[in-house]
Amino acid sequence: MASTNKIVVIGGGVIGLTTAYLLSKDKSNEITVAAKHMPGDYDIEYCSMWAGANFLPDEYFVSPWYSVGAEGSAHARWETNTWPVLEDLAQNHPEAGIHFQKSVVINRKKDAESATGLWFKELLRPDPWYKDIVPDFKLAADCDLKPEVDNEASFTSVCMNAPVYLSWLVSQCCKNGVVFKRATFKHISEAATVHASGQKPDLIVNCTGLGSLKLGGVQDSKMYPARGQVVVVRNDPGAMYSLSGCDDGDDEACYIMMRAAGGGTILGGSYQINSWDSQPEPSLAVRIMKRCIEVCPQLVGKDENGKQRGIEGLDIIRHGVGLRPLRHGGTRVEKDNIDGTAVVHNYGHGGFGYQTSFGCCAEAAALAKEALAEIKPKARL
Ligand SMILES: Cc1cc2nc3c(=O)[nH]c(=O)nc-3n(C[C@H](O)[C@H](O)[C@H](O)COP(=O)(O)OP(=O)(O)OC[C@H]3O[C@@H](n4cnc5c(N)ncnc54)[C@H](O)[C@@H]3O)c2cc1C
Repeated sequence: MASTNKIVVIGGGVIGLTTAYLLSKDKSNEITVAAKHMPGDYDIEYCSMWAGANFLPDEYFVSPWYSVGAEGSAHARWETNTWPVLEDLAQNHPEAGIHFQKSVVINRKKDAESATGLWFKELLRPDPWYKDIVPDFKLAADCDLKPEVDNEASFTSVCMNAPVYLSWLVSQCCKNGVVFKRATFKHISEAATVHASGQKPDLIVNCTGLGSLKLGGVQDSKMYPARGQVVVVRNDPGAMYSLSGCDDGDDEACYIMMRAAGGGTILGGSYQINSWDSQPEPSLAVRIMKRCIEVCPQLVGKDENGKQRGIEGLDIIRHGVGLRPLRHGGTRVEKDNIDGTAVVHNYGHGGFGYQTSFGCCAEAAALAKEALAEIKPKARL
């Protein structure tokens, strides 16, 4: 009888969990996930818990910090292949914590060269590549636009309740026999000691996000953060909104999304390149709340005298900061060999880890299968 493939996945974020889930569908894989942080932890080193998270393609092509090329099309492929899975989960598996939401994207040409304008650029084109992927794509008529707005599109998207969704991924993995452990590694080779079988694994899958900057054996100096500050509130916006930029600063943003299953509404944000500050900045929080109310006054509604409410009308759950794990040159999905152990890297998903997750992690799982076939050519994989 063929022996099982022993795999250690490092990372309990959306990328590690999705990769482990996809690998666990193959009964010949025996998987241990080992991570410093797991769903439920709110920590600056754990990006996934801070995400909105929604499906808003596509930042990758346009970011000045990425090279555009063949990898750009990989990104679009990942998003294209992720949408149907998220759509199915929203439609048929409410326990996953994903729901459909109308998404409105608002473009002001004057934001074109700002950090956030570049981040959102493809999203804000009148004819974006993804218009045939998402349902109900529609451009607003020029006569309906506010004076400062150059174009506005709406479509049906999804919003995930990140803590619920990550926990759902854990439960799907557990159902398939995946074992979870807490561990902090200084060097990737230490992961070879934690497989639940007690044996050395055949393969390590590295899904450490920004952790890959410091993890021994990887130390990828191309990794850098884009700081995102958010305010989570109980108010209901009625739809999701994203703006190309704002007048408060080039690296500040304005977006609103309501998480499924009572997860509250995320008000964002910022896109502060190379900022590692873990603490919410109070003045930025005020600007975020003011901007969101300007874009979506129904968030707070009017008082008993018919006067529009301001930020005092927001019911705040918490303030938060997450660091998007960006990588110069793009996401790394690649086979490697470190100290004699086969490794597949899957990290550097910037601000798009959820919306690329299934597409990208399926390709990482395929690389894992290839790597295992190279190690155990005769085994039944
Ligand atoms: C404010 C904000 C809003 C966002 N909104 C969206 C959105 O709407 N849609 C979207 O698609 N994306 C969004 N993102 C981006 C998304 O959250 C990230 O792309 C995604 O979370 C990255 O996941 P990850 O698993 O690679 O990293 P992480 O979630 O950071 O997970 C890394 C894991 O590796 C572990 N780890 C790291 N180093 C070590 C080590 N040495 N030893 C052991 N374990 C280690 C950590 O403990 C953790 O478990 C947003 C991000 C932010 C900050």
